[in-house]
Amino acid sequence: MSTVLELDRRHAWHPYTQHAQERDPIVISRARDASLFDEEGREILDLISSWWTCGHGHSHPEINKALCTQANNFEHAMFAGFTHRPAAELSARLAQILPGTLNRVFFSDNGSTAIEVALKLSYQYWRNQGEERRLRFLAFDGGYHGDTFGAMAVGKGSGFFSLFDELMFKVTALPFPDTWRGDDEIAAKEAIALEALDRELADGGIDISAMIIEPLLQGAGGMRMCRPEFLRLVTERVQAAGIPVIYDEVATGFGRTGTMFALEQAGVIPDIICLSKALTSGYMPMSVTVAKDEIFEHFLGDDFGRALAHGHSFTANPLACAVALRSLELFDEEHTLKKIAAISAQHERFLDERETSDNVIRLRCLGSILAFDLKDAGEGYKSGTSEFLRDYFLRRGLNIRPLGSTVYLMPPYCTTENELERAYSGILDGLAELGGATSP
Ligand SMILES: *Cc1c(COP(=O)(O)O)cnc(C)c1O
Repeated sequence: MSTVLELDRRHAWHPYTQHAQERDPIVISRARDASLFDEEGREILDLISSWWTCGHGHSHPEINKALCTQANNFEHAMFAGFTHRPAAELSARLAQILPGTLNRVFFSDNGSTAIEVALKLSYQYWRNQGEERRLRFLAFDGGYHGDTFGAMAVGKGSGFFSLFDELMFKVTALPFPDTWRGDDEIAAKEAIALEALDRELADGGIDISAMIIEPLLQGAGGMRMCRPEFLRLVTERVQAAGIPVIYDEVATGFGRTGTMFALEQAGVIPDIICLSKALTSGYMPMSVTVAKDEIFEHFLGDDFGRALAHGHSFTANPLACAVALRSLELFDEEHTLKKIAAISAQHERFLDERETSDNVIRLRCLGSILAFDLKDAGEGYKSGTSEFLRDYFLRRGLNIRPLGSTVYLMPPYCTTENELERAYSGILDGLAELGGATSP
């Protein structure tokens, strides 16, 4: 056993891990493009982009260079009373690529904190206007927004956090009409969801602070996809009631869904947007909460009480900002959206061939994301199935971690046609093994 494992076993506490059962983690010692390499040099294709963070590829030479340059210049400076070129330029660049008046960028360190900031912003937006009874948030069933308390509250429809229920503020979760290839009930499901929304807004939604939405794709909730048209209708109705809409694009931002942001496909503009994960192409923990100018203006005044009393030690870390800026440039230089379109087309061809397969259902694809569910993977047996597959895939040199009975790919944008073919055949073999392992 390597020293790394000895030290890890004794001292590290891993995320979402039952340490009494979990086998030893894999020690990664190097990574390049779509591949991770363990201590023995064995390659593992990172087909879920290391929890959806890795964008252009691991250890990209251009991003490495930008990081070193900034580190040699200065590594960090506090962001209250100080500023610097990387943060100023990144704010301006984000405002430029985001639509409408989404112009005011607040920096924090991860997806969950970006959500906390958005929730506090929208609550205080009302308080600053003298409205003190807006104690409730709207969200969708199956939505996931992170693991801190506010994020857990709005993500309670995911079912991940029932242990902490009593500690959470008020959230109403509406039905989410997820859809897939050949779904002929989608119009009816959307109508039910819109009726539920209309009921919440019937009295003008006078106790509601904001609605939070993962646009087009519920990630951790099981890669559940909705139609852009539905997203547009929901956003328009909530905004018509004067209630801010928060888009959680922590996972969908920066190309994942085929466009730079998922919002582009719905043709609407939220009041607040949260971005993280691929913001730094997976290099550094950083996130932003971007608000419309109209929201920001309500925080101005002679009184500090109107200001947003929120901040983090590493707010707008220059290393992370420099990396994010370089990552954004690479979208143009490397024609990244074209690469994503090619990945998407290859996913669709793979799904075309699976249409008639009888062990997978709800086939779906959105940009670089491919997903389907396993048929007959009942509740109790669910986690057993996903663990079986996860281990099988790892033995095949593929990092694919099913979410319950949902198998999905979300590869880095540099993933080649050949690498994707390796992933597909690994999946098909894994499903065949699963059939063999579970038949009586
Ligand atoms: C991952 C994720 C978060 C939380 O981000 P962390 O960086 O893990 O805190 C929030 N919202 C969505 C949609 C996510 O996928």
